[in-house]
Amino acid sequence: MATSRTGTATYLRNRRRVLNQARREGLTHCPGYTDPRGVHHPCGVELDYDTPLLPNSAEADHVVEVRHGGTDDVHNLRVLCRQQNLERNRHVAPVPVPLATDFPTSRVW
Ligand SMILES: [Zn+2]
Repeated sequence: MATSRTGTATYLRNRRRVLNQARREGLTHCPGYTDPRGVHHPCGVELDYDTPLLPNSAEADHVVEVRHGGTDDVHNLRVLCRQQNLERNRHVAPVPVPLATDFPTSRVW
């Protein structure tokens, strides 16, 4: 059983609703997304609603990330291809890794 951060019963139920609705409305291609800076990332790949885990699988993305206070409500979910969903989650709030030069040493070897 999934224990990921998106594994709640509410999310799973609403995910299905969002995907079914998009499909009914004829959304066949990924609309892309707008990041928090307001930059739009276009896409246009043909969505696959039936096969999970492909780069073009349709997924329900959180408009406002859960860790930023977003909910699993249908209004906070939108359809996005898996490729961009993953890409987005990679880019959001990266943990800064300090460079070695941030730790100067006075010792002379
Ligand atoms: Zn996409």
